[in-house]
Amino acid sequence: MTKPKSTKTSQTSTSISTHKSPKKEVPLSELPKPTIISPKKSKNKSTLRDDDEGGARVLYWHRTDLRLTDLPALVRALEEIKDIKGFWPIWCFDPEYVYKHRVGLNRWNFLLESMNNLSEQYEKRNDKQKLWTFRGRPEFIIRKLKLDWGITHLCFEKDSNAYSKVRDEKVFALAEELGIRVISTPGRHLYDPDDVIKLNKGKPTMTLHQWQSVTSKMGDIEKPAPTPESLPDPGSIKLEDNHEEDWGKYEGVDLNADVRTGKDTCFESIIGPLSDPFSVPTMAQMGFEEATTTIKGGTIEGHKRLDLFLGDPDKVGTFSKPHSEPTSLEPSTTLLSPYIKFGCIGIRELWWGCKDVVEKWKEDTGGKGETKEPENMFGQLQFRDMYACAEAAIPHFERIRGNSVCKYIAWNLQNQYDLNGNEILPRPIDKDDEESEKRLNAWKFGKTGFPWIDACMRQLKYEGWIHHLARHSVACFLTRGQCYISWERGMEVFDEWLIDWDPASNPGNWMWLSASAFYSQYFRVYGLVSWPQKTDKTGALVRKYCPELKDFPDKYIYSPHLAPLAVQEKAKCIIGKDYPSPILDEHLEKDLCIARIKDAYHLNYHGNDQDVLDGTAEKKLKEIHEQNGHTHEQKKEEDVKKRKRDGAGALDKFVKREKVN
Ligand SMILES: Cc1cc2nc3c(=O)[nH]c(=O)nc-3n(C[C@H](O)[C@H](O)[C@H](O)COP(=O)(O)OP(=O)(O)OC[C@H]3O[C@@H](n4cnc5c(N)ncnc54)[C@H](O)[C@@H]3O)c2cc1C
Repeated sequence: MTKPKSTKTSQTSTSISTHKSPKKEVPLSELPKPTIISPKKSKNKSTLRDDDEGGARVLYWHRTDLRLTDLPALVRALEEIKDIKGFWPIWCFDPEYVYKHRVGLNRWNFLLESMNNLSEQYEKRNDKQKLWTFRGRPEFIIRKLKLDWGITHLCFEKDSNAYSKVRDEKVFALAEELGIRVISTPGRHLYDPDDVIKLNKGKPTMTLHQWQSVTSKMGDIEKPAPTPESLPDPGSIKLEDNHEEDWGKYEGVDLNADVRTGKDTCFESIIGPLSDPFSVPTMAQMGFEEATTTIKGGTIEGHKRLDLFLGDPDKVGTFSKPHSEPTSLEPSTTLLSPYIKFGCIGIRELWWGCKDVVEKWKEDTGGKGETKEPENMFGQLQFRDMYACAEAAIPHFERIRGNSVCKYIAWNLQNQYDLNGNEILPRPIDKDDEESEKRLNAWKFGKTGFPWIDACMRQLKYEGWIHHLARHSVACFLTRGQCYISWERGMEVFDEWLIDWDPASNPGNWMWLSASAFYSQYFRVYGLVSWPQKTDKTGALVRKYCPELKDFPDKYIYSPHLAPLAVQEKAKCIIGKDYPSPILDEHLEKDLCIARIKDAYHLNYHGNDQDVLDGTAEKKLKEIHEQNGHTHEQKKEEDVKKRKRDGAGALDKFVKREKVN
């Protein structure tokens, strides 16, 4: 391995300042309490270095905290660890993440931009610093840096989600073995989910009210942590050559194989190309094409967006999520979610920023029209925490099987498992249900023939973000609304395409939208025409993302299949040829979904019931559907009879339905 250019190892002092967003400095004693593991004296002799001069050599391991503002874990590391002889902010490109998680181009791009931007922030404060980027499993990197750099401390922001817990348990065990002191400090949420669960007697918070009630006993939300203005130098950055270790070896399935169009050279060396060691990988090195999104990553961009929102006190004071507009071309909500997901801004900066702005706005204007929780911004942030607490407390939160809060509904295209209960990945195509496979594919790629759904899905793929109520529409359509396809399939597509993908909010919201948990009004279904018409009769979003429909008159923009042929010809778009005909009958399928979910609610199975695990529940439910006339064939037959009775042709029926909707 080449020697990267050497840097001096003198230490600069650490001073603290605040970012310009409104917030107050907070004394250390008020920062979230860390989990500190002080290992017993290491038994492993190989971890002791001959040239050990004493003093601390500290790794700050960045994960989903790509910022220097409001980062309690970093502040504590710098304040608590005395006599720092070397300090390295690092990132580990973990092959488990790179290959085993579905991540689309836009999220990769956002991550890489955010890493580069963080690296610049470090350099700005100390020109010997950067984000030292490694490519390999964290356990391997840490072991190696103990040997090569004599690491004494490892600090990071605590993560409570299932994947991170497993990863961090391994790291804790390794640190114990190597004699490294670990300081893990909460900071990703308003309250540490593990503390909330503990106070809630080990149970998840399943409603906002429950979460509010538990956290009301936990004291106020911490104030934003101050930003370090300067940082200690790194120590030596020389790495011993030990190619024999398979740091980047990954033998599982590459779930991103179909996104990778070029040669993947990411893991050819533990520190990246020799010309630019420790650099953040590029999209090309990972075998990816350019991203399409216009959403730029980074803590600077995130703070610009935060300041934009906080700079409009009227908007902050009257923010009402249910009244925001999913059809708007410009985001009608904050579009802060990607920056929150990757920790480009601190959650307390947003919370206290809003609190301060709202207080002042009320003083200045009297606060007319002030919105309350849950629809105001505070309610939105609480929802995020509520899902985090649920995910941290409920095993298998991201799937139906084994999930104790998820109602069992016999959805089509559920996850598949082998005889040992391991999920089969990638999911094999269901040859017995080609119709659902077709529907899923049409939904994913925006070809359902329902312009509102198609525009949302195309925007999601292109931008990596869609409005919350657009997420509602597409999730409802795929699951309880019309397609009756498992929420696991929709969640999977969101996993891949959302920049703001979050391991708790994504499955949590999918369970909500499919009425599988958190929400039970399965009979309330979004109209595919009437719903978008509420906020935009002109169909601007459809015209942008489904350009083939752009010349349709407003009257037909959400239902071009109803337009007479002359109108279609004038719009230069023939339905069924230039744009798909609807893949299903909206209302027939809706009635069927509601009827079947009613059956499932009546039976009341959950994902961890034995009957679900051994397949009995599915059989029973299907029998019940048949007995009750709730199968596709029976419903269609019934519908045809009804149409004959009514004397109405199929098209008339469509028209009538659109009118009453
Ligand atoms: C099916 C479905 C899947 C979703 N998946 C995700 C996901 O993977 N990651 C994600 O961050 N959000 C997810 N959401 C929640 C929500 O849609 C987004 O957080 C929001 O649209 C992001 O846009 P914004 O930043 O402009 O939101 P704003 O309305 O400006 O809200 C500010 C912040 O509050 C939080 N927030 C708001 N609503 C929710 C919510 N319902 N659940 C959790 N947090 C919320 C987010 O951090 C958001 O950035 C999902 C919603 C649905 C219906």
